[in-house]
Amino acid sequence: MKCVGVVPTGMSVTGLCQVCESREAEYTCHQCGAAVCPVHFEQDRGVCVHCADPDGTEDVFAQPAGDDVPEFR
Ligand SMILES: [Zn+2]
Ligand SMILES: [Zn+2]
Repeated sequence: MKCVGVVPTGMSVTGLCQVCESREAEYTCHQCGAAVCPVHFEQDRGVCVHCADPDGTEDVFAQPAGDDVPEFR
């Protein structure tokens, strides 16, 4: 079995997306743990848009992979 980084968590996540607060959250950010909807979840990286692009806007999506992410700490 291959380890999949992104797993839909429809059963364990309830409530609204913590980014837009208008759609039902279906994913959990692997970095900050925020529950987010598919629109605000970077499935390639398994993180919410805030973690994927801290300097971006809330509506940013599908940011092309560029430079490596700077060290988190
Ligand atoms: Zn959202
Ligand atoms: Zn996050």
